[in-house]
Amino acid sequence: MASPPRTIRLTQGIEGSLRGGHPWAFADAVALAPGLADGEVVDLLDRRGEFVARGTVEPRSPLAFRAWTLDPDQRVDAALVVQRLAGAIALRRELLRPGVTGFRACHGENDHLPGLQCDLYGDVASLRTDGALGVAWEERFVGAVQQLLRPRAIVVRNPLLQDGEARVVAGTMPAAPAGGRDGEVVIEEHGRRFFVDVLRGQKTGFFLDQRENRDRVAQLARGRRVLNTFAYTGGFSVAAAQGGAAHVTTVDLAAPAVETARRNFALNGLDPAAHSFLAADAFDVLAELAARATGGAPPQPVAGLPTGSFDLIVLDPPSFAHSRKMVPRAEKAYEKLNELALRALPPGGWLATASCSSHVREADFLAYVATAAVRARRRVTIAAIAGAAPDHPARLGFPEGRYLKFALLRAE
Ligand code: SAH
Repeated sequence: MASPPRTIRLTQGIEGSLRGGHPWAFADAVALAPGLADGEVVDLLDRRGEFVARGTVEPRSPLAFRAWTLDPDQRVDAALVVQRLAGAIALRRELLRPGVTGFRACHGENDHLPGLQCDLYGDVASLRTDGALGVAWEERFVGAVQQLLRPRAIVVRNPLLQDGEARVVAGTMPAAPAGGRDGEVVIEEHGRRFFVDVLRGQKTGFFLDQRENRDRVAQLARGRRVLNTFAYTGGFSVAAAQGGAAHVTTVDLAAPAVETARRNFALNGLDPAAHSFLAADAFDVLAELAARATGGAPPQPVAGLPTGSFDLIVLDPPSFAHSRKMVPRAEKAYEKLNELALRALPPGGWLATASCSSHVREADFLAYVATAAVRARRRVTIAAIAGAAPDHPARLGFPEGRYLKFALLRAE
């Protein structure tokens, strides 16, 4: 019989938020006992000494405690990892449409499995484990994935190990797919196919969270000239082209991603030569388009940018705020981007705009876009507000879980 977990105490009155579903206590809110190990299971008590939650500690991290359970009789161990992962997979079976072969099987804290993101790309599992917890619990996480998903290969990234580079920790990667490269697999989502580079790609290889938002863009694209900025490997671009866009321009700063976008067109039977692909800064592209629309001189003309205007613009920038301190800077960047895009759109044009920063709440994001509309002197109608795909659930009481905000707007 294992000895009971050691205890740590809250120094701030945040037990209400933990009991309400928030899974974290930061270092300034807890008093840690000396000698605790990374990932050690402890009981968190409130200031009166009453049990609040059982979870794991990371003594050297600002994120000091992650709650796993509010039940003092539940054991936090490898068996619980398996149980929680099984629950997460069962939820996907209920929520995903058939034929989706790339999906997030586990979304960490939001699936009550702290520290583990697990994406499945065909029969390859691509994991991102978080922090010192992820390092300490890697074997248990990998074991549970092995047992329940039986993938042919398991790839793990953790920012604290090997500079966050992908490591194949179990099995072997499949051979390169036709038209693809080593490290890539092909996934399918709602009739679209994509090369996903599991070893060298961003995040775990692909941005699965925008799947349903790509459907929204596809539905609007018919006959339109579409500009997809921050395109990565062209997810929204393929959706728009399949939806019947007259022309799609794909822009990303990362040249290899743009090259993959081109291959993703071919993979879907779309002729890349009929569309434009640019490795360029989206701010420069939008500044030029805004200048074109309003008659100003572009600060820096972008080579290869098609002439004329675009009537559907997608803005899906990376997180501009990795911490709360960065939010003011992020606000400026969102305002700038959205202002430029709104200036660039003709009357009746569409803007699909997103923010993936967990530190920016939906209401804040909409306020930034509203400021952008004022500056661009455009009247804007909200056609839809959405979040991440259903395989990226958010737990109630944990606003950070609703990190992805997506708005479909019409510029009048
Ligand atoms: N829309 C994509 C995901 C975008 S992730 C999809 O559906 O898959 C954000 C992307 O922005 C990354 O690919 C990154 O390379 C790119 N990026 C970052 N800064 C940029 C900039 N200033 N201009 C253009 N692209 C940029």
